[in-house]
Formats: sequence, structure tokens, C-alpha cells
Amino acid sequence: MTKHFLKLLGVALSMGASLHLNAQNDWFAISKINQHVSALAHDSMRGRATGSEGETMAANYIISQFKAFGLKPLAGDNNWKQAFDFKTESHGAEARVGKANNVIAWLDNNAPLTIIIGAHYDHLGEGEDGHSLDPAAKGKIHNGADDNASGVAGLIELARYFAKNAERERFNILFVAFSGEELGLLGSDWFVQHPSIDLAKVNCMINMDMIGRLNPAKPQLTVSGSGTAAVWENLLRSFSSAAMEIKTDSSGLGPSDHASFYKKNIPALHFFTGSHADYHKPSDDVEKINSRGIEAVLMVIAGLIEKLPDEKLTFLKTRNASQGSRASFKVSLGIMPSYANSENGLKAEAILDGKPGAKAGMKDGDVIVRIGEHVVKDIQTYMEALGKFEKGQKTSVTVIRDTQTLTLPIEF
Ligand SMILES: [Zn+2]
Repeated sequence: MTKHFLKLLGVALSMGASLHLNAQNDWFAISKINQHVSALAHDSMRGRATGSEGETMAANYIISQFKAFGLKPLAGDNNWKQAFDFKTESHGAEARVGKANNVIAWLDNNAPLTIIIGAHYDHLGEGEDGHSLDPAAKGKIHNGADDNASGVAGLIELARYFAKNAERERFNILFVAFSGEELGLLGSDWFVQHPSIDLAKVNCMINMDMIGRLNPAKPQLTVSGSGTAAVWENLLRSFSSAAMEIKTDSSGLGPSDHASFYKKNIPALHFFTGSHADYHKPSDDVEKINSRGIEAVLMVIAGLIEKLPDEKLTFLKTRNASQGSRASFKVSLGIMPSYANSENGLKAEAILDGKPGAKAGMKDGDVIVRIGEHVVKDIQTYMEALGKFEKGQKTSVTVIRDTQTLTLPIEF
């Protein structure tokens, strides 16, 4: 053994010692996060389409993890899986019908209140249901590493952390991996209609959907639903730092599973590291995942839960609640909006073929600043503007493309 080796060993030991000062780091091991994302986003799961064999494989993987942590099954009848029927809407695709499963695990801390932590584990399969943004999607595996193997990896590691730490939390925790999200929040909607616990005792819901793309150059975490309880804004702000800035969005409605809980008057948050060019494309793959970013998000969620008051949170309706869900809109532009950091217009990450936006000549990356007479500043004002129009109505959409401002005639 050389002196050099001993010196290295000394450095390693002191590094190890300092890591133990923050015990959480041991629980959210990068290697475990990578293992889960790689397993769920593996080609063998063929994109985890709702009701597919790949979905069953993914469910069984999640169950094997929950079992190993000593959690209890809580989908009824000592079952980990809560089955529901689904039917796809056709988007130029053949409609499918079948059964899908939510996976539900329970950490019983003998507490009066329960926190639900959720993430959807289904994705777009091989483009069979027409939700892909790849124009030639059919037959291409959509691994959905960010959407939403990242959130499920987070769900599993939070389950490990809360089940295996030495403490008994002040709340019970229900961990739910939802299916059918990509088909329109089907799994979470079924769960709130057929809950395996009393929803009156649910303190809040925490949703992770797409937490795998924290941008190292501009680390920003978007948390939606901050208006659903009075405590959220200040609590979330306390976790914002230069290492990861937290942007809040008050709305409890949004295109993921927390919306199902919001509609049942349950305070709900959605954690999201931002949209990207691989969204809903076969290129949403594991090598683009920032697992240190996932770890950072999990530390915020664990810290947030630890800092919650003992008494039940009071639900607040958020400012765009009167707009209702996505489904209540009569018109759409057919774009994938960016949910991050918009103040001077809403960026359209992607324009869907054949929809009004594309027909009007919109392009990926356009920033929408006006629809007809309605100024668009962000996702809220965009949704409010859309709510003013009927199908078949003609107006214009004003966008900023690079340095140009363009006003395009549009028909809904
Ligand atoms: Zn998703």
C-alpha cells in the first residue's frame, strides 16, 4: 500500500463523513434513481402504453420496490393494483378498450391525516393512441424517461426514504403510481372517484410529472398549485436557492394528475422541471435525464412534508378555477405550451399538425402574446383567452418569432 493510496483513502473518508452530515443524501442515491429510470424507460417496456404488457411490467417493477420497503398494499383486497376500464379517444388512431391499473402502497404511521404522493407511470407506448408529437410515431417506442419514469423514480425513492428512515412522520403517506394519465388523467380520476382511503382525511396531494430535465445552466423547478393552500408560497420560497430556483404557479388545474385532486377540493402541488424538444417524442430517453436534478427535487419534497403544520391544510380555490378543466374548453390552438417561466407571452414548445395553430402557420418556439383582443402573458391568461372563443370562430393570434411580431389569422 503506497502513501499515495493512504492519502486518497483519507480524502475519501473525510468526504464520506461530510456526506453523512446530510442523511437525506444517502436515501436519494443517484444510483437508485438511475436504476429506476433505466428500468422503466427500457425498450423492453415498449413505452408503457395504458393497458399494455409494458404497463404490467412497469407496475410489477414498482410493486417489487414498494414490497421491499415493507409498505402495505392498499388498493383493496390486499391488492397492490387498482384496476379501471379505459377507452381511448381516437386521434386519427384506432380506439382501444381494456383494463389498466393504478399501483397503491400505504405507509401507516397511525396518524389522523394522510398525504398522497403520486406520479403517473404510463406513457405513449409505440404511438398507438395518437398523442405523439412525432409525425411518424407509429411503431416507434416512446420510452418517456422524463415523462414520467423520472417522477416514478422519485415516487419510489420517496417511498424508500419515508419507509426506511428512523422517524415516524406526523402523517400517513399513500404512494400512488397512476396509469391512464396520457389518455386524460384516467387513473387519478378513477382513484378520486373510488378512493382506497377516506378523502376527507387527505391533507394534500404531491404530484411529480417530468422532474428529470433540470437545466444545469439555469436550474429552475416549477411548482404549480401554490394557490391551493395558504402555506405553500412561503414554504416553497424557503427552498428556493441559486442551486435551484423555484418558480410557483398558483393554479391547481393543469395537465397532470394533481388536477383530479384539486377538483375534489384537496390542496395539490405539481413538481415539474420544464418542457423540452423531446416532449412526447421517441427521443425522450434516459441519457438526457439529470438524476442530480431529480435528487434535488426529492429533497425539496421531503423537506416540504417535514415542515408542514400538524393541522389539516385549508383548501383554497385558485384564480382560474372558474375556467374549469381542459375538457371544458370548446376550442384549442393545438400547441404544447411551456409551463415554465413565462411573463411576456406563452411559448409554444411544439405545434401539433393539422390543428388550428399549425393551419394558421404557427411554428415551434413561437411566443403567443395575443389571441384576438386578449393579451396573453402566461399560461393563465392564455387559458382565459381561449375560454372566450367558440368552435368555428375566426380571430387572430399574435406571436413573437425570433425578433419578428406576426399576426396570423386563425379559425378554431
Ligand atoms: Zn406526464
